[in-house]
Amino acid sequence: MPFKSPKKKTWQIAGRLSHFKNVFPDDEACLSLLSAHKWKAGFVCIKCGGINYCKGKTLLSRRCTKCKTEESATAHTVFHGCKIPLVKAFEIAFMVCNIADISSYEMSRQLDMRHMTCYNFQKKVQACVNGEKRDPVFESLQIEVNKRVQA
Ligand SMILES: [Zn+2]
Repeated sequence: MPFKSPKKKTWQIAGRLSHFKNVFPDDEACLSLLSAHKWKAGFVCIKCGGINYCKGKTLLSRRCTKCKTEESATAHTVFHGCKIPLVKAFEIAFMVCNIADISSYEMSRQLDMRHMTCYNFQKKVQACVNGEKRDPVFESLQIEVNKRVQA
């Protein structure tokens, strides 16, 4: 049993998180990886199917040159409409995927965030992890995050 005492567990989680934070220090680092995975096979406009785009108004968003619809890197991913900073959402996703049985209370302590906020996002991530919701972007993203954090 690797995580026996609650204190040791908290300490170990903090250690893994600090490593994670070195690799993904801010929203931009997360957004850039998310955008690379989301449009891995190329850009396809969700509205008209156009494949040509230019830069959108927000960081790493893309704008269809045909119908002018702008799409952010987070749109239609598990991070869609997330009210918390992307880097925090990534941290929650990382913990849910890598630390068995982590509770939303523990995450709220680690991230210094409201419990309900952690709980709600944890549910979204869990749905992807246990296959209730098919999310290929999340799957490939998760593999890449783990590769980078473990390296
Ligand atoms: Zn379009």
